[in-house]
Amino acid sequence: MNSKPVFNNRFEGYAYSYPHKHSYRRMEPVSLEQLWASEKKDALFLYIHLPFCEMRCGFCNLFTIANPQETIVDAYLNTLQQQAETIRRVIKPESFAQIAVGGGTPTFLEMPQLEKLFSIMRALGAEPKDIPASFEMSPKTINPQKLKFLEENGVDRVSIGIQSFLDGETKALGRPQKNKEVEEALNLIRQYRFNTLNLDLIYGTYGQTPAAWQYSLEQAVSFHPEEIFIYPLYVRALTGINKLDQNAQDLREDLYLLAKKFLTSAGYEQISMRLFRLKTVRSSKAALSYSCQEDGMIGLGAGARSYTKHLHYSSEYAVARGNIKHIINEYIAKNSSDFEFVDYGIELPVEEQKRRFVIKSILHASALDTRRYESLYGNKLLSDFPQLGLLLENQLAVMDESQKMHLTSQGTDYSDAIGPWLYSPYIKELIQTFELK
Ligand code: SF4
Repeated sequence: MNSKPVFNNRFEGYAYSYPHKHSYRRMEPVSLEQLWASEKKDALFLYIHLPFCEMRCGFCNLFTIANPQETIVDAYLNTLQQQAETIRRVIKPESFAQIAVGGGTPTFLEMPQLEKLFSIMRALGAEPKDIPASFEMSPKTINPQKLKFLEENGVDRVSIGIQSFLDGETKALGRPQKNKEVEEALNLIRQYRFNTLNLDLIYGTYGQTPAAWQYSLEQAVSFHPEEIFIYPLYVRALTGINKLDQNAQDLREDLYLLAKKFLTSAGYEQISMRLFRLKTVRSSKAALSYSCQEDGMIGLGAGARSYTKHLHYSSEYAVARGNIKHIINEYIAKNSSDFEFVDYGIELPVEEQKRRFVIKSILHASALDTRRYESLYGNKLLSDFPQLGLLLENQLAVMDESQKMHLTSQGTDYSDAIGPWLYSPYIKELIQTFELK
């Protein structure tokens, strides 16, 4: 067995969604009503985007701005409310299966703003006390009052970006933070009853040694988080660290393998190339079954994406501060009726729907269900995607007795190569010609 002929580079890109947002384009307006008319609406995912942070990290290309004026945040929430009202009236969601609030840093909101956010969610019919509800935060933006509010209002998963437990590394990442503040924040979070605490860490920072990475992993595990996400550093266009020395030695492969060994021996199960979860974790809520391959997603806010079977859409996307501000201002200026039409996104012909099903399934421990694929699309998986045979031949994937195709442990290590390798030529072309602003 030798995987090298299949993939020379493990770190091609992160296929966290398909198609990538860089394949979205301006399009003829489509009515929201028509778009959702034949969609299943009984197990929807609600994603709410708050594009505000207390600082702009050097490695981050997410749709967010640092330190906006409070009036902008208030105006943004007013528009969010109008968008939610339009969605309720036009899409008529039947029930939500999951909620995620991300950004940005949602805990950037002050208490009255948080209260308003939850009332918007509830008015839309999404009750965080009844379904899995996740909330992103940063060490500097939390306090006891906010955490108590989130706990009492049903948030059961909190996710906090730490990146590193070494001050020098976070400085090199363009995210100056004091480790003392990080530890205080984690100790504070642990005083509340959130079912799952997730910590995000980054590896491959310039100058990071295996010993330094091991130190951050040990520190992370000492807080017993139920989940740890490890992100390889990708230096992305228009971000702060883009300017740094890119000829530094790339240790990401060694650091990834070190983390995998360390976390699995510390009682964590590997769910994907990035996600490690304590084997003992169980959800505190009886969740409706939501399938990210098949069920729809409703996105609220500028930068939030929404998915129907045939079309993915959002507001425009940018990375540079001035351009993000412009898109946020355009969003704020909208009224309810403006949300009745969609004019930016990508249509998914059946060929792309199939690819999406394959990519979203195979990179996750839940695996690629070939029988489900065949019942949805009427074709044999391996005749539609003969290249998957290469993964089987090279023991990067196996087929189990229930005809589910799983990445092997070594295959999981190549997830960031396998995902982009499965993109269609059409989507690759769109990504390559996207004009990043
Ligand atoms: S990494 Fe997180 S805290 Fe930093 S700018 Fe991006 S969204 Fe904000």
